[in-house]
This record gives sequence, C-alpha cells and structure tokens, in this order.
Amino acid sequence: MKPVHGTDTLELKGDLLTEGVRATAEALDGVGTIYKEQNHGLFGWDLEDHGEEKLPDDFLLGDSTVVQFRKNGRSPFLVERAEGGKLLLQRDGEPIGPVSWIPRPSFYERSTSDGTPMVKIGQIGGEDCFFICYNNYCAHFSKRKECLFCNLVDTSRKYRSVITRKQADQIGETTAAAFREGAAKHILMTGGCFGNEKEVEVVETILAAIRRHTGLDRIPGTLLPSPPEDLASLRRYHDAGIDAVAFSLEIWDEPMYRALCPGKAGDTPRKKFLESLDEAVRVFGPGNVYGVFVMGLEPADSLFEGVDDLSSLGAHVVPFVWSPNPGSRLYGHRAPRGAWYAENVRRFAEIVASKKLPPSINHCRKCDGNNMLHDALDRLTGSRPRPGP
Ligand code: SF4
Repeated sequence: MKPVHGTDTLELKGDLLTEGVRATAEALDGVGTIYKEQNHGLFGWDLEDHGEEKLPDDFLLGDSTVVQFRKNGRSPFLVERAEGGKLLLQRDGEPIGPVSWIPRPSFYERSTSDGTPMVKIGQIGGEDCFFICYNNYCAHFSKRKECLFCNLVDTSRKYRSVITRKQADQIGETTAAAFREGAAKHILMTGGCFGNEKEVEVVETILAAIRRHTGLDRIPGTLLPSPPEDLASLRRYHDAGIDAVAFSLEIWDEPMYRALCPGKAGDTPRKKFLESLDEAVRVFGPGNVYGVFVMGLEPADSLFEGVDDLSSLGAHVVPFVWSPNPGSRLYGHRAPRGAWYAENVRRFAEIVASKKLPPSINHCRKCDGNNMLHDALDRLTGSRPRPGP
C-alpha cells in the first residue's frame, strides 16, 4: 500500500514517535497476553501516563519498520481493528496502512528459580533485543542535576514494573530463557548511571552468569556502562564475553550538554567519552562500538558533527528520537517534526556510509523502535526492499 500525504515510512516513524499514537480498545485486545506489552525497564517513553492500562511496547509498519508505541490521547494517529481483524493505522481519519503488534515472548509468563517473574528482570525491545538494566538508579536526581529529558525516577515510582537491583543469576536465567525460545538475538545491558569503578566487577559477574546459563562463549549484543576511569576496564568488559560496547553521550554540543545534563556533564566531560570510544574501538573493533545520543534538542548540524567524528573513529551512532515525557523537566515542550528527523537521519546515514564502517550487527533495526538511523542506513545500503507502510 502506498503511503498517504506523501509521507514515506521514515518520516511516518518520526511523526509517530513525536506525536504519539492512540489505539481503540478493540485494537488493544490481546496486548499483555498474545502481544508484547510495555514493561518500563528504565525510562517511560509515552507522552502521557497510562497507569495500569496495558499498551503495546512497539509495533511493526507494513514494511517491518519497528516503531515504539508512545501513547498520546490527542495524537492524530489511531490504530483500529479493521474488517477481518487486521490492525489499521490512520491519521486524522484517513487510512495509512496495516500495522501489527509484536508477539509476547513466553518467558514473560515464567519465573526464575527464586520465584521472581522474569519480566521484572529483562524485557524484549523491538523484535529481538533482550534489555536488562542492572541498576535502575541515578544519583543526579537527588541533587536536582538530572538530565532535563530524563524521567527515570518518575517512571520507576509510577509503574514499579521492574526490580531495581537484579541478581546475576536472575539475569542469567532470564537471558537463557529469552535466547532459548528465540525471542532474543542480541542483548542490551546498562547500569543506568552507575558511576563508580565497582561497575566493572558487577558486569563481569553478570556476564559470567549469562554465559553459564546460556552456554554461550561470547554474548551477542551491547554493554552500555559509564565511561570507566581506568581505560583498562574496557579490555575486562571484552574479555568477560560481550561483543560490543556503547556510551551515552546524550548531546554533542558541549555548552548544550552542560545545560541539559548538568550532573552527568559535571562527572563526564565529552573528552572522557571520546577517550573511552577511541580505546573501545581498539579493543572491540570498528563497528562494535556505539555512541548514544538524544536527538531533537540540539541543532541538527551540531549532532551531524558528532556523527561525523564518531564514525571517523570507527563507532556507530544510535540517536534516540526525543519527545517530551511526563516526569522529565522538559515535559510540555514540543519535539521537532517527523520530517526534521527523517531529513537529518538521512544525512547522518550518508556520512556513516561514507566511512565504510562494518555493519551494526550488535544493535540492529529490529532492536528498538525509538531510533531511525538504522532504518535510514538500511535503505541507503539497499539491504532490504522498500515498500510503503
Ligand atoms: S545520567 Fe541523565 S539520562 Fe542517565 S539516568 Fe541519570 S538523569 Fe537519566
């Protein structure tokens, strides 16, 4: 089916992420039983709170683009159940095309050997990424120095979806269950804002448990720790069995980084990120290192510089699409339009492709629905067909 309003899938994804989406009760039937529901593993991405209501975590457009479901009761986008039971996306009452929810993994119904529900330990992002936050905590909130776009504390208080601190064996057992049933192909593991040298020991213990329970020698996926004081820790992470590493730089423009991330910028200046990324490329190899950004708060040309510099180093970039979330200090602001995101991730994709980086295999376009650069790169390199939604 052709997109309407001259909107291509990339721009549509940008609009869905920044304007949010609604769904009728009939369309939501089966979410939480047959289809994968939201369990807030770290942040909340909806544009409004949804209490106990079961909402999809993400969904697929007709060309298999993964889009995060961000609830907004005033969104022009609506998912409804059409004749024959199929889901149909419409905008302002005009049909756009079919969409589908993502099946719920069966480990969401299981418990670890100590009786903990596995879904409170790790969740599937997109279609194939097992997400674990080993420490849902950030010290910057108590000093009112949290990043202005972040709602970690508010999300954890409101939804209580996950256990804040998980034991290594709980993580190992849950990861094994996710891989065994084929729900996971990669992991994405982060410690929120751990911020001390004990992080490397904690991660080594967890990765050892994952290897023991899954039987894997090396773990496909990405670890997202704080940049270590001692760069030798990067070799320890690698030798503990993880295939890729990422660092969350958040904002490239330095004065804006200091303004938007007052606590984090105080602890971790950009120079420290760049040293960590440079060393990480030496240890993990080009294409197995990622810089993570929040896209939509700084000028596009500024983030473009960051994408250029990081890809020159041998690192991929994951720019998450920002929209203002409840519980963050920027709640009530507006994000740029989908067309702005689409136009600029296309520029980013061109500069990344020009550097001939190895493809991003440890974090892919199926891993999450809140980043558009993987989709743009995929189109540019022509690795998949491009039907409309
Ligand atoms: S460092 Fe910033 S983005 Fe990360 S958890 Fe803390 S406040 Fe949130």
